[in-house]
Amino acid sequence: MITPSASAQHRHFQQQQSAILDTIEQLVTLESPSDVKAAVDRVSTVLASRFGELGGKVTVHKAEKFGNHLQVDFPSRSDRPRILLLGHMDTVYPVGTISKMPFRVSKGRVWGPGVFDMKSGIALALHVIESLLQWNNGALPKPVTVFLVSDEEVGSTSSRQITEKLAQQSEAVLVLEPAAGPNGAVKTARKGIGEYTIRVDGVAAHSGLDFQKGHSAVVELSRQILRLSEMVDLKRGTTINVGRISGGGRVNVVPAEASAVFDLRVRTKKDGERVHRKLMSLRPVDQKCKIKVTGALNRPPMERTAAIAALYKKAAQVATELGWKLEEAAVGGGSDGNFTAALGVPTLDGLGAVGDGAHSAHESVLISELPKRGALLSGLISSL
Ligand SMILES: [Zn+2]
Repeated sequence: MITPSASAQHRHFQQQQSAILDTIEQLVTLESPSDVKAAVDRVSTVLASRFGELGGKVTVHKAEKFGNHLQVDFPSRSDRPRILLLGHMDTVYPVGTISKMPFRVSKGRVWGPGVFDMKSGIALALHVIESLLQWNNGALPKPVTVFLVSDEEVGSTSSRQITEKLAQQSEAVLVLEPAAGPNGAVKTARKGIGEYTIRVDGVAAHSGLDFQKGHSAVVELSRQILRLSEMVDLKRGTTINVGRISGGGRVNVVPAEASAVFDLRVRTKKDGERVHRKLMSLRPVDQKCKIKVTGALNRPPMERTAAIAALYKKAAQVATELGWKLEEAAVGGGSDGNFTAALGVPTLDGLGAVGDGAHSAHESVLISELPKRGALLSGLISSL
Protein backbone atom coordinates (compact mmCIF):
# COMPACT_ATOMS: atom_id res chain seq x y z
CA MET A 1 0.00 0.00 0.00
CA ILE A 2 1.14 3.54 -0.60
CA THR A 3 0.28 6.68 1.31
CA PRO A 4 -3.13 7.88 0.06
CA SER A 5 -3.80 11.36 -1.29
CA ALA A 6 -4.56 14.17 1.14
CA SER A 7 -8.30 13.92 0.60
CA ALA A 8 -8.23 10.13 0.99
CA GLN A 9 -6.31 10.58 4.26
CA HIS A 10 -8.98 13.00 5.41
CA ARG A 11 -11.74 10.50 4.56
CA HIS A 12 -9.79 7.79 6.36
CA PHE A 13 -9.67 9.82 9.57
CA GLN A 14 -13.38 10.62 9.22
CA GLN A 15 -13.97 6.88 9.25
CA GLN A 16 -11.65 6.64 12.25
CA GLN A 17 -13.51 9.37 14.16
CA SER A 18 -15.32 7.09 16.59
CA ALA A 19 -12.13 5.13 17.29
CA ILE A 20 -10.33 8.42 17.99
CA LEU A 21 -13.16 9.45 20.33
CA ASP A 22 -12.85 6.12 22.16
CA THR A 23 -9.14 6.77 22.72
CA ILE A 24 -9.89 10.29 23.94
CA GLU A 25 -12.44 8.87 26.38
CA GLN A 26 -9.94 6.32 27.64
CA LEU A 27 -7.39 9.07 28.32
CA VAL A 28 -9.74 11.71 29.76
CA THR A 29 -11.44 9.34 32.19
CA LEU A 30 -8.01 8.57 33.67
CA GLU A 31 -7.41 11.79 35.59
CA SER A 32 -3.78 12.87 35.72
CA PRO A 33 -2.91 15.99 37.70
CA SER A 34 0.83 16.76 37.56
CA ASP A 35 1.25 16.38 41.31
CA VAL A 36 -0.22 12.88 41.70
CA LYS A 37 2.44 10.50 40.40
CA ALA A 38 0.31 7.36 40.67
CA ALA A 39 -2.44 8.96 38.59
CA VAL A 40 -0.14 10.13 35.78
CA ASP A 41 1.61 6.75 35.85
CA ARG A 42 -1.72 5.08 35.04
CA VAL A 43 -2.02 7.16 31.86
CA SER A 44 1.60 6.47 31.03
CA THR A 45 1.05 2.71 31.44
CA VAL A 46 -2.03 2.71 29.23
CA LEU A 47 -0.23 4.69 26.54
CA ALA A 48 2.85 2.47 26.75
CA SER A 49 0.66 -0.48 25.86
CA ARG A 50 -1.34 1.37 23.18
CA PHE A 51 1.81 2.63 21.42
CA GLY A 52 3.59 -0.67 22.13
CA GLU A 53 0.79 -2.62 20.37
CA LEU A 54 1.57 -0.63 17.24
CA GLY A 55 5.13 -1.92 17.33
CA GLY A 56 6.86 1.03 18.95
CA LYS A 57 9.85 0.46 21.23
CA VAL A 58 8.78 1.73 24.62
CA THR A 59 11.21 3.38 27.05
CA VAL A 60 9.90 4.45 30.42
CA HIS A 61 11.90 7.29 31.98
CA LYS A 62 11.29 6.91 35.68
CA ALA A 63 10.63 10.12 37.55
CA GLU A 64 10.63 10.28 41.31
CA LYS A 65 8.22 13.09 42.10
CA PHE A 66 6.23 13.08 38.88
CA GLY A 67 4.69 10.45 36.66
CA ASN A 68 7.05 8.46 34.47
CA HIS A 69 7.84 10.04 31.10
CA LEU A 70 7.10 7.88 28.10
CA GLN A 71 9.30 7.54 25.03
CA VAL A 72 8.21 5.41 22.09
CA ASP A 73 10.48 4.94 19.09
CA PHE A 74 9.09 3.86 15.76
CA PRO A 75 11.75 2.67 13.36
CA SER A 76 11.74 3.17 9.64
CA ARG A 77 13.39 1.55 6.66
CA SER A 78 14.77 4.94 5.70
CA ASP A 79 17.80 6.29 7.53
CA ARG A 80 16.44 9.83 7.50
CA PRO A 81 16.76 11.81 10.74
CA ARG A 82 13.89 11.31 13.09
CA ILE A 83 10.85 13.43 13.83
CA LEU A 84 9.92 14.07 17.43
CA LEU A 85 6.24 14.19 18.39
CA LEU A 86 6.05 15.96 21.71
CA GLY A 87 3.24 16.11 24.25
CA HIS A 88 2.28 15.86 27.90
CA MET A 89 0.05 13.51 29.85
CA ASP A 90 -0.51 15.68 32.92
CA THR A 91 -3.39 18.10 33.44
CA VAL A 92 -4.13 20.98 35.83
CA TYR A 93 -7.24 19.32 37.28
CA PRO A 94 -7.19 17.67 40.72
CA VAL A 95 -8.42 14.09 41.06
CA GLY A 96 -12.21 14.10 41.42
CA THR A 97 -12.79 16.90 38.86
CA ILE A 98 -14.21 14.28 36.52
CA SER A 99 -17.31 13.98 38.72
CA LYS A 100 -18.07 17.69 38.20
CA MET A 101 -17.04 17.88 34.53
CA PRO A 102 -17.47 14.32 33.26
CA PHE A 103 -16.31 13.04 29.90
CA ARG A 104 -19.19 13.64 27.53
CA VAL A 105 -20.06 14.20 23.90
CA SER A 106 -22.58 16.93 23.20
CA LYS A 107 -23.18 19.85 20.82
CA GLY A 108 -20.57 18.53 18.40
CA ARG A 109 -17.90 18.69 21.07
CA VAL A 110 -16.19 16.35 23.43
CA TRP A 111 -15.81 17.60 27.00
CA GLY A 112 -13.78 16.73 30.06
CA PRO A 113 -10.69 17.63 32.09
CA GLY A 114 -7.61 17.82 29.88
CA VAL A 115 -9.51 16.90 26.72
CA PHE A 116 -8.17 19.93 24.82
CA ASP A 117 -4.88 20.38 26.69
CA MET A 118 -3.89 17.88 25.49
CA LYS A 119 -5.27 14.38 25.62
CA SER A 120 -6.93 14.72 22.21
CA GLY A 121 -3.51 15.62 20.79
CA ILE A 122 -2.08 12.36 22.15
CA ALA A 123 -5.02 10.40 20.74
CA LEU A 124 -4.45 11.99 17.33
CA ALA A 125 -0.78 11.03 17.38
CA LEU A 126 -1.67 7.43 18.20
CA HIS A 127 -4.18 7.08 15.37
CA VAL A 128 -1.95 8.91 12.91
CA ILE A 129 0.96 6.57 13.60
CA GLU A 130 -1.35 3.56 13.33
CA SER A 131 -2.55 4.78 9.92
CA LEU A 132 0.91 5.65 8.62
CA LEU A 133 2.06 2.14 9.56
CA GLN A 134 -0.85 0.64 7.63
CA TRP A 135 -0.12 2.73 4.56
CA ASN A 136 3.60 1.96 4.61
CA ASN A 137 3.56 -1.81 5.18
CA GLY A 138 4.30 -1.68 8.86
CA ALA A 139 7.17 0.81 8.86
CA LEU A 140 6.95 4.59 9.01
CA PRO A 141 8.22 6.69 6.08
CA LYS A 142 10.86 8.02 8.49
CA PRO A 143 11.75 7.31 12.11
CA VAL A 144 9.38 8.92 14.59
CA THR A 145 9.83 9.26 18.34
CA VAL A 146 6.85 10.06 20.53
CA PHE A 147 7.79 11.64 23.83
CA LEU A 148 5.09 12.30 26.41
CA VAL A 149 6.05 14.04 29.63
CA SER A 150 4.26 14.07 32.96
CA ASP A 151 5.18 17.50 34.35
CA GLU A 152 4.55 20.09 31.61
CA GLU A 153 1.85 21.94 33.52
CA VAL A 154 4.26 22.55 36.40
CA GLY A 155 7.35 23.65 34.45
CA SER A 156 8.79 20.38 33.06
CA THR A 157 11.68 20.34 35.53
CA SER A 158 12.09 16.57 35.50
CA SER A 159 11.55 16.04 31.76
CA ARG A 160 13.31 19.02 30.21
CA GLN A 161 16.71 17.36 29.82
CA ILE A 162 15.24 14.34 28.05
CA THR A 163 13.12 16.55 25.79
CA GLU A 164 16.19 18.57 24.84
CA LYS A 165 18.31 15.51 24.17
CA LEU A 166 15.66 13.91 21.95
CA ALA A 167 15.11 17.20 20.12
CA GLN A 168 18.81 17.51 19.35
CA GLN A 169 18.66 14.10 17.67
CA SER A 170 15.68 15.14 15.56
CA GLU A 171 15.14 16.94 12.30
CA ALA A 172 11.93 18.59 13.48
CA VAL A 173 9.70 18.72 16.53
CA LEU A 174 5.93 18.58 16.15
CA VAL A 175 4.11 19.58 19.33
CA LEU A 176 0.66 18.12 19.97
CA GLU A 177 -0.54 21.00 22.14
CA PRO A 178 -3.97 22.53 21.35
CA ALA A 179 -4.36 24.65 18.24
CA ALA A 180 -4.94 28.40 18.65
CA GLY A 181 -8.37 29.92 18.11
CA PRO A 182 -11.50 28.64 16.39
CA ASN A 183 -9.70 28.25 13.04
CA GLY A 184 -7.11 25.91 14.50
CA ALA A 185 -3.98 27.99 13.86
CA VAL A 186 -0.63 26.36 14.57
CA LYS A 187 1.76 28.16 16.87
CA THR A 188 4.98 29.49 15.39
CA ALA A 189 5.97 31.69 18.32
CA ARG A 190 5.54 31.51 22.05
CA LYS A 191 6.65 33.90 24.72
CA GLY A 192 9.42 33.05 27.15
CA ILE A 193 8.31 32.81 30.76
CA GLY A 194 10.05 33.58 34.01
CA GLU A 195 8.93 33.40 37.61
CA TYR A 196 10.44 35.81 40.11
CA THR A 197 10.14 36.69 43.76
CA ILE A 198 10.84 40.11 45.23
CA ARG A 199 11.41 40.19 48.94
CA VAL A 200 11.59 43.37 51.01
CA ASP A 201 13.05 43.60 54.51
CA GLY A 202 12.14 46.76 56.39
CA VAL A 203 12.32 47.82 60.02
CA ALA A 204 9.52 46.94 62.44
CA ALA A 205 8.19 49.47 64.96
CA HIS A 206 5.13 50.11 67.13
CA SER A 207 2.71 52.00 64.94
CA GLY A 208 1.69 54.25 67.85
CA LEU A 209 4.75 54.73 70.00
CA ASP A 210 7.55 54.62 67.41
CA PHE A 211 5.94 55.08 64.02
CA GLN A 212 8.80 57.23 62.67
CA LYS A 213 11.37 54.57 63.59
CA GLY A 214 9.71 52.04 61.37
CA HIS A 215 10.47 51.41 57.69
CA SER A 216 7.53 49.65 56.16
CA ALA A 217 8.31 46.71 53.94
CA VAL A 218 4.74 46.85 52.67
CA VAL A 219 5.08 50.46 51.52
CA GLU A 220 8.44 49.71 49.89
CA LEU A 221 7.04 46.63 48.15
CA SER A 222 4.15 48.72 46.85
CA ARG A 223 6.60 51.19 45.30
CA GLN A 224 8.53 48.34 43.71
CA ILE A 225 5.35 46.81 42.31
CA LEU A 226 4.58 50.11 40.59
CA ARG A 227 8.08 50.02 39.09
CA LEU A 228 7.45 46.50 37.87
CA SER A 229 4.22 47.59 36.22
CA GLU A 230 6.15 50.35 34.45
CA MET A 231 8.35 47.70 32.82
CA VAL A 232 5.32 46.31 30.98
CA ASP A 233 5.65 47.07 27.27
CA LEU A 234 2.67 45.70 25.39
CA LYS A 235 4.10 46.75 22.03
CA ARG A 236 7.18 44.64 22.59
CA GLY A 237 5.08 41.88 24.15
CA THR A 238 6.74 42.26 27.54
CA THR A 239 4.39 41.68 30.46
CA ILE A 240 4.84 41.39 34.19
CA ASN A 241 2.02 40.07 36.32
CA VAL A 242 2.34 40.30 40.08
CA GLY A 243 0.24 37.31 40.94
CA ARG A 244 0.65 37.08 44.67
CA ILE A 245 1.68 39.45 47.47
CA SER A 246 2.15 38.87 51.14
CA GLY A 247 3.56 40.79 54.05
CA GLY A 248 3.06 42.32 57.42
CA GLY A 249 1.25 40.86 60.38
CA ARG A 250 -0.38 42.76 63.19
CA VAL A 251 -2.15 45.91 62.21
CA ASN A 252 -0.39 47.97 64.92
CA VAL A 253 3.12 47.02 63.78
CA VAL A 254 5.01 48.71 60.95
CA PRO A 255 5.73 45.64 58.83
CA ALA A 256 9.30 44.38 58.54
CA GLU A 257 8.63 41.90 55.76
CA ALA A 258 6.78 41.76 52.48
CA SER A 259 7.15 39.83 49.27
CA ALA A 260 5.58 39.36 45.88
CA VAL A 261 5.74 36.64 43.24
CA PHE A 262 5.44 37.66 39.63
CA ASP A 263 5.43 36.23 36.14
CA LEU A 264 7.49 37.78 33.33
CA ARG A 265 6.75 37.11 29.67
CA VAL A 266 8.90 38.20 26.74
CA ARG A 267 8.90 37.67 23.00
CA THR A 268 12.64 37.48 22.48
CA LYS A 269 15.65 36.15 24.31
CA LYS A 270 17.18 39.64 24.12
CA ASP A 271 14.19 41.21 25.83
CA GLY A 272 14.37 38.50 28.47
CA GLU A 273 18.00 39.30 29.23
CA ARG A 274 17.36 43.05 29.27
CA VAL A 275 14.40 42.86 31.65
CA HIS A 276 16.22 40.33 33.83
CA ARG A 277 19.11 42.78 34.28
CA LYS A 278 16.65 45.54 35.16
CA LEU A 279 14.98 43.34 37.76
CA MET A 280 18.29 42.41 39.32
CA SER A 281 19.28 46.06 39.62
CA LEU A 282 16.12 47.23 41.41
CA ARG A 283 17.09 49.39 44.41
CA PRO A 284 14.98 50.43 47.40
CA VAL A 285 13.41 53.88 47.51
CA ASP A 286 13.57 53.83 51.32
CA GLN A 287 17.28 53.33 51.98
CA LYS A 288 16.52 51.56 55.26
CA CYS A 289 14.76 48.79 53.41
CA LYS A 290 16.56 45.95 51.66
CA ILE A 291 15.24 44.27 48.57
CA LYS A 292 16.19 40.99 46.99
CA VAL A 293 14.95 39.73 43.64
CA THR A 294 15.35 36.06 42.72
CA GLY A 295 14.21 34.12 39.69
CA ALA A 296 14.97 33.56 36.02
CA LEU A 297 13.38 32.81 32.68
CA ASN A 298 12.53 29.12 32.99
CA ARG A 299 11.10 28.75 29.51
CA PRO A 300 13.03 30.57 26.78
CA PRO A 301 10.92 32.22 24.07
CA MET A 302 10.09 30.25 20.96
CA GLU A 303 11.01 32.78 18.30
CA ARG A 304 9.75 32.49 14.74
CA THR A 305 13.01 31.62 13.00
CA ALA A 306 13.34 31.00 9.25
CA ALA A 307 13.38 27.24 9.96
CA ILE A 308 10.14 27.48 11.94
CA ALA A 309 8.55 29.56 9.17
CA ALA A 310 9.63 26.91 6.64
CA LEU A 311 8.08 24.15 8.75
CA TYR A 312 4.85 26.14 8.98
CA LYS A 313 4.88 26.55 5.18
CA LYS A 314 5.07 22.80 4.75
CA ALA A 315 2.14 22.32 7.10
CA ALA A 316 0.18 25.05 5.29
CA GLN A 317 0.87 23.25 2.00
CA VAL A 318 -0.58 20.02 3.43
CA ALA A 319 -3.64 21.98 4.59
CA THR A 320 -4.05 23.51 1.12
CA GLU A 321 -4.12 20.02 -0.34
CA LEU A 322 -6.83 19.23 2.20
CA GLY A 323 -8.77 22.27 1.01
CA TRP A 324 -8.31 24.71 3.87
CA LYS A 325 -6.05 27.53 4.90
CA LEU A 326 -3.87 26.85 7.92
CA GLU A 327 -3.19 29.98 9.92
CA GLU A 328 -0.30 30.60 12.27
CA ALA A 329 -0.34 32.34 15.63
CA ALA A 330 2.04 33.81 18.18
CA VAL A 331 0.87 33.16 21.73
CA GLY A 332 1.80 34.20 25.25
CA GLY A 333 1.63 30.75 26.82
CA GLY A 334 4.61 28.42 26.93
CA SER A 335 5.04 24.73 26.19
CA ASP A 336 7.88 22.24 25.89
CA GLY A 337 8.18 23.52 22.32
CA ASN A 338 9.90 26.56 23.85
CA PHE A 339 12.82 24.35 24.91
CA THR A 340 13.24 22.62 21.56
CA ALA A 341 12.88 25.82 19.52
CA ALA A 342 15.43 27.59 21.70
CA LEU A 343 17.94 24.87 20.77
CA GLY A 344 17.46 25.82 17.14
CA VAL A 345 15.53 22.65 16.25
CA PRO A 346 12.67 23.53 13.86
CA THR A 347 9.53 23.29 15.98
CA LEU A 348 5.88 23.59 15.07
CA ASP A 349 3.40 23.77 17.92
CA GLY A 350 -0.37 23.64 18.23
CA LEU A 351 -0.79 20.59 15.99
CA GLY A 352 -3.30 19.05 18.40
CA ALA A 353 -7.04 19.48 18.60
CA VAL A 354 -9.19 22.53 17.88
CA GLY A 355 -11.30 23.58 20.83
CA ASP A 356 -11.74 25.93 23.70
CA GLY A 357 -11.42 26.51 27.42
CA ALA A 358 -8.04 24.98 28.31
CA HIS A 359 -7.62 24.83 32.12
CA SER A 360 -11.28 25.72 32.70
CA ALA A 361 -14.65 24.14 33.40
CA HIS A 362 -15.75 24.43 29.76
CA GLU A 363 -12.70 22.72 28.25
CA SER A 364 -13.82 21.04 25.03
CA VAL A 365 -12.75 19.90 21.58
CA LEU A 366 -14.56 20.26 18.25
CA ILE A 367 -15.24 16.76 16.98
CA SER A 368 -15.67 17.73 13.33
CA GLU A 369 -12.10 19.10 13.27
CA LEU A 370 -10.46 15.90 14.53
CA PRO A 371 -10.23 14.13 11.14
CA LYS A 372 -8.71 17.28 9.61
CA ARG A 373 -6.09 17.48 12.34
CA GLY A 374 -5.30 13.80 11.85
CA ALA A 375 -4.84 14.34 8.12
CA LEU A 376 -2.71 17.43 8.77
CA LEU A 377 -0.39 15.55 11.10
CA SER A 378 -0.08 12.46 8.90
CA GLY A 379 0.43 14.62 5.81
CA LEU A 380 3.08 16.70 7.55
CA ILE A 381 5.00 13.66 8.82
CA SER A 382 4.91 12.20 5.31
CA SER A 383 6.07 15.43 3.67
CA LEU A 384 9.05 16.14 5.93
ZN1 LIG B 1 -0.58 21.72 27.34
